[in-house]
Amino acid sequence: MSLFEYAPAPESRSIVDIKSSYGLFIDGKFVDPKDGSTFKTINPASEETLAEVSEAGNGDVDAAVAAARKAYTKVWGPMPGSERAKYLFRIARIIAERSRELAVLESLDNGKPIKESRDADIPLVSSFFFYYAGWADKLPYAGMGPDPKPLGVAGQVIPWNFPLLMLAWKIAPALACGNTVVLKPAETTPLSALLFAEICQQAELPPGVVNIVTGAGQTGSALVSHPDVDKIAFTGSTAVGRDIAKSVAGTKKKVTLELGGKAANIVFDDAAIDQAVEGIVNGIFFNQGHVCCAGSRLLVAESIQDEVLDKLKRRMSTLRLGDPLDKNTDIGAINSSQQLAKIKELAAVGQAEGARQWSVSCDIPDNGFWFAPTIFTDVSQSHRIAREEIFGPVLSVLSFRTPEEAIAKANNTPYGLSAGVWTEKGSRMLWAATALKAGVVWANTFNKFDPTSPFGGLKESGYGREGGRHGLEAYLNV
Ligand code: NAD
Ligand code: MN
Repeated sequence: MSLFEYAPAPESRSIVDIKSSYGLFIDGKFVDPKDGSTFKTINPASEETLAEVSEAGNGDVDAAVAAARKAYTKVWGPMPGSERAKYLFRIARIIAERSRELAVLESLDNGKPIKESRDADIPLVSSFFFYYAGWADKLPYAGMGPDPKPLGVAGQVIPWNFPLLMLAWKIAPALACGNTVVLKPAETTPLSALLFAEICQQAELPPGVVNIVTGAGQTGSALVSHPDVDKIAFTGSTAVGRDIAKSVAGTKKKVTLELGGKAANIVFDDAAIDQAVEGIVNGIFFNQGHVCCAGSRLLVAESIQDEVLDKLKRRMSTLRLGDPLDKNTDIGAINSSQQLAKIKELAAVGQAEGARQWSVSCDIPDNGFWFAPTIFTDVSQSHRIAREEIFGPVLSVLSFRTPEEAIAKANNTPYGLSAGVWTEKGSRMLWAATALKAGVVWANTFNKFDPTSPFGGLKESGYGREGGRHGLEAYLNV
């Protein structure tokens, strides 16, 4: 019990109009799936059904790819970049105008706190479209040749952790470069992509330039293996990414994969400890830890470990778990019962292997999927919770004595997506950033994203970059 209680401060859900059922978005129109299959998407904070969504089969994926091909050949491919830019600027502007609606919908379907969808996801979505709109007529100056050409039709498959943001990372650069797309959102979070389809209509984007096919792994697989797709972009698990890489080997398709991570967040003994504690919390508890680049392994200098852990526990005890639509909520719902089961399983393994679990004591709502913010101490490098991606609000704490040991432990993972370093010494920062085998290294901060900055992994975290000028390369024939 805390001394002071917050009054409820829920964002109104009436701003968004959720339909009872949705078709597939193909060739500029919502159409029923050929075999009539549907599935439900739920609000993970309450388990209530939000809407019935169409499940695209092979024939539907075929129709979507054909629409994208036609739009590529007849309209979008030949269109001057300066004209494409106008559509992208228009989409960016509509997203900004409808940002509250999008934020509420994202929090309802995904379970993430409204303050994150409102202040992080949706503003970034809009800024990605603005940023790549600016590139559409400047491709000859991107350093990829005097007249770089698009690839054609892109098949894009995205996960549920940042549904609309991952859509933006995929669609904005593809369209700016002159490609058309067929995108499959994750089966637990299809609604913001379907609202985006309505925004494409509102922006009068030519039919077929963007197609949205909803469904699960089968639909994704049909899209990835379709013979008339020129480019595959995937974000999700390393296991599925590996299957995709195999299935496209020996074809003309270009592939970018953004897979899992097990990032180290390294706190050196000279770090500003209060700032580092904020960064640790942001690193692992942002978005319930459903973040591929989450700082899920804390590496802390042994001499300051007790102080850091005391402050961390105190800070974690102030985190508010509950209604994602409440503006004071820090920790929302786990996205699905399957993901909750996976988090619980790995936490149980952590205990069985001898690590010590400490969780925030907080009220867990009766319905929905929840996991209290948790840290494990006494973790060794061989423990599964130190090696495998948990993809939940669970931090594994390890310590080190020398900077070299910190780097060796940080790099002791098959992943290489991101890392964080906390130190007051500039020289140590630069040394660590060079020694860490990770696509992104944050210095005295964590989980910072910007459309101008390339993002992507090394090793089993995948290949290719999204964001920035580098992100254009994935969608140009260079
Ligand atoms: P997943 O890889 O199974 O799903 C990601 C997307 O791929 C979804 O749209 C899914 O429908 C689709 N998909 C599934 N099987 C497919 C196939 N054979 N061919 C084509 N598309 C397919 O990931 P998940 O089940 O949502 O999550 C499992 C784990 O993946 C998580 O616990 C986490 O470790 C990791 N993950 C990583 C990220 C990331 O951003 N890198 C995001 C989400 C999940
Ligand atoms: Mn949902």
